[in-house]
Amino acid sequence: MKPTLKTFSTTVRAHLDIEMLVNCPHCDYLIDLLNEGDTNRYCHNDDGYLIRQMFPKNSTHEDFECEDITCGICKKKFNVRGLEW
Ligand SMILES: [Zn+2]
Repeated sequence: MKPTLKTFSTTVRAHLDIEMLVNCPHCDYLIDLLNEGDTNRYCHNDDGYLIRQMFPKNSTHEDFECEDITCGICKKKFNVRGLEW
């Protein structure tokens, strides 16, 4: 049977899954800044703070920043500056 447009008319939702990865500078653990389980239960994306910086309006990805991150493994703190795509 030849496929018709109706054959392909099923519509589904897309699912966007974002990870924002950084290696802890102290223990090298791979941390997802968007996963509170990796950042000692602290939400760094409050009010979309990190996601909004993915699409800078008047700045560049070099200006991306996230401060006072606590590594979920070694509990030491560090900052992130700059975002690579
Ligand atoms: Zn660490």
